[in-house]
Amino acid sequence: MAWSIRSLGTILLDLACPPRCALCGADTDGGDLPTVCVACAAVVAAGPARCLRCGDVMIDGRCPMRRCPSPHWDGLVVLGPYGDDLRRHVLRAKRPGAEAVATALATLLASRHRDTLATWQIDTVVPVPMHWWRRCSRGTSTADQLAVGISRATGLPCRRLVRRVRATPMQNELPWEDRRRNVHDAFRPRRRCAGRRILLVDDVTTTGATLAECRRALVEAGAAAVYAAVVAKADRTAESPPAP
Ligand SMILES: [Zn+2]
Ligand SMILES: [Zn+2]
Repeated sequence: MAWSIRSLGTILLDLACPPRCALCGADTDGGDLPTVCVACAAVVAAGPARCLRCGDVMIDGRCPMRRCPSPHWDGLVVLGPYGDDLRRHVLRAKRPGAEAVATALATLLASRHRDTLATWQIDTVVPVPMHWWRRCSRGTSTADQLAVGISRATGLPCRRLVRRVRATPMQNELPWEDRRRNVHDAFRPRRRCAGRRILLVDDVTTTGATLAECRRALVEAGAAAVYAAVVAKADRTAESPPAP
């Protein structure tokens, strides 16, 4: 009976206040995802197929990277390219109070790559950490919110297993060639994670330097495998992102 009353309440609430898309504000159209309309889901998740090792766009069905498989992590899934709609949504998700946008992007990311994540046998979702000082000044961490969203969508636990031990200049403020040095040795494990199969989560990646350094800390702490999931990948021909 309690279930029926709750269901009736949900139906009445939906009739009075139809669920809105977190990305565009339109009705969600009764699509598969509760917080994203069908149109946004189609636009945001559109984009070419990417290599599941390095994240580069496939050419003729093959990875264009000569050194793929990537030495930096075990696999990488991407929601889409950092441009147009996705860039706008990522920037909105960075603002305080925009948790719904981050949750919607995380839900889309997890939904698009559900089969791959299952194949990877992930057991823990881990956000790329923000330095505590920057977190205090901004009041939010998009990576945290995305990781929680993916955790909810997949049913996997979310843990902060890495900490950032020094504040670094924003990656997008630096030339490409300086970005790896900028984050070198900037992360430490919070605790041992022996045997864990981890999914690192961030909003944007460009060179992959931040993900690679986080992976290094997790492997030092005993992780068996470290994969990564990012909302947007800024390819070398695209505009530089805000904070990879
Ligand atoms: Zn929408
Ligand atoms: Zn590749």
